[in-house]
Amino acid sequence: MERLQKVLAHAGVASRRKAEELIKAGKVKVNGQVVSQLGTLVDPEQDQIAVNEKEIDTERKVYYLFYKPTGVITSVRDPQGRPVVMDFFRQVPERIYPVGRLDRDTSGLLILTNDGELAHRLMHPSFHVDKVYRVTVQGIPKKQKLNKLERGIRLRDGWTAPAKVECLQQDIKQNIAVVRITIHEGRKRQVRRMFKAIGHPVLALHREQYAFLTLKGLKEGEYRQLDAEEVKRLK
Ligand code: URA
Repeated sequence: MERLQKVLAHAGVASRRKAEELIKAGKVKVNGQVVSQLGTLVDPEQDQIAVNEKEIDTERKVYYLFYKPTGVITSVRDPQGRPVVMDFFRQVPERIYPVGRLDRDTSGLLILTNDGELAHRLMHPSFHVDKVYRVTVQGIPKKQKLNKLERGIRLRDGWTAPAKVECLQQDIKQNIAVVRITIHEGRKRQVRRMFKAIGHPVLALHREQYAFLTLKGLKEGEYRQLDAEEVKRLK
């Protein structure tokens, strides 16, 4: 339980002093009842708190880094009952959701949070979050084709922003290559479409990094919470 004015201040409604004024002025309701007594104790996870008749979001903000396996849909539920990302987070009480999405056949790093403001910013292209993918492609791409991806290519939804591309491995016998690509956009199936456009369809796709975050220490299907320092860096 916490003091009402502190909960209001933490939710970003107002400074602690301003919050006290709002309470004294009878502008704050807890579970539908006006509370004008300073220091009233409330449960930010359970109680419904409204200021000027508008409900405020008091849920503690949480941030998870998840190693999504292939075959799992980036969704809260699937009408066809296929495995979804949220199946891995059944024990988490907060109403979290994924930041952006990875295709069902893509593995790798996914962030989940209940912080709508941060999620929105991270997904906005102007925020320029680097996403690093390890891509297994069919055929051995020529340098000039990879250069095309670096400069930007035209897809049906417009030109892609310049990317960083590095060939990691070539297997002439199997006729496949492994390429690392860094992009900051997040269009639907973007990496798959980019490689298809240069004539090298993607056989496997894995996101190994998101901003400065990597999957170090995690196995497929595992997750961990971000610490305060990491959250600060993301913001
Ligand atoms: N690009 C894709 O094509 N698929 C993903 O899952 C992520 C990026």
